[in-house]
Amino acid sequence: MRVLITGGAGFLGSHLSDALIARGHEVYVLDTGSIAKVRHLLGEPAFHYIHDSIFNLELLDGLTSKVDLVYHLAAVVGVEHYVADPYETLNVNVNGTQNVLKAAYKYNRRVIFGSTSEVYGRNPKVPWRENDDRVLGATTVDRWCYATSKAVGEHFCFAYHRMGLPVTVLRFFNVYGPRLDHVDVGRVFTIFMGQLLRGADLTIVGDGRQTRCFTYVSDAVEAMVQAGLRPEVNGEVINVGTEEETSILEFAQLMLKLFGPSKSRIRFVNQEEVYGPGYEDIPRRVPDTTKMRTLLGVVPRVSLEEGLRRTIEWFRKEYRQS
Ligand code: UDP
Repeated sequence: MRVLITGGAGFLGSHLSDALIARGHEVYVLDTGSIAKVRHLLGEPAFHYIHDSIFNLELLDGLTSKVDLVYHLAAVVGVEHYVADPYETLNVNVNGTQNVLKAAYKYNRRVIFGSTSEVYGRNPKVPWRENDDRVLGATTVDRWCYATSKAVGEHFCFAYHRMGLPVTVLRFFNVYGPRLDHVDVGRVFTIFMGQLLRGADLTIVGDGRQTRCFTYVSDAVEAMVQAGLRPEVNGEVINVGTEEETSILEFAQLMLKLFGPSKSRIRFVNQEEVYGPGYEDIPRRVPDTTKMRTLLGVVPRVSLEEGLRRTIEWFRKEYRQS
């Protein structure tokens, strides 16, 4: 297959590129970001890197016309980004997604859309099935612009599906692994990792009893690959994650244990210290993964302990070299 991955030089996209190249597919990555995560693929004849944007409509049209399948992963992701720049979040995630869907519709190319567990907001009834309610806060709280933008993207996917476009939506749950962001920014893993490397205390927001289901990147990639191979999941939305629920306190303790001797301890902080105003945490986030298992045939294989061991090891090496 010839595959276009928008946002293919990002965390998920770079791992997906690896997996597709390893399976013998031809990969076109369209990405505005740094090349660092896909540099190792540049020598591969089947890998094509285009440093440009989903707002370059002519380019997007040309690329879409020559592939069989489009993974749309280009997005503004990460709490600090969407709290800092709601305009960019909404523009890229809504208008950018529409550009991709329009081009795909023109050439009738199948689309796999990368969505997020954020769309459920803070619905207290876990685990979340794909047709469960979305429970969001006020539009004056910036955090919700990301969930809203991704939900609009999903609505566009379903609208195009009604018009005949083959499209599948995947909702990712806290995926982590090598190449996730830079340390000190982004997700809780990279923030704690930066703190461990500096011997600083791990900042737990609130009481640390909020939970997440951390999904190792190879499990998420397997779900993406399977979704791309199975046209029978057109029109479906599927949670991608593990049901292993972990509190942030347990997560911090496990990272401390796996990192080994360090000066870091645990420090409980007020959420404004980390995010400033305009942020609202989600107390529990757990997927129901029945559809992932039955429709995609994917079972998460990497435990949190094993995944964290690998990821910590990777970041250690990476930051020793730089
Ligand atoms: N978190 C934390 N300390 C930090 C950064 C994040 O305790 O320094 C918490 C955050 O409040 C949230 C969880 O870790 O409850 C996961 O945060 P992340 O930004 O990784 O992703 P989210 O799941 O909230 O989108």
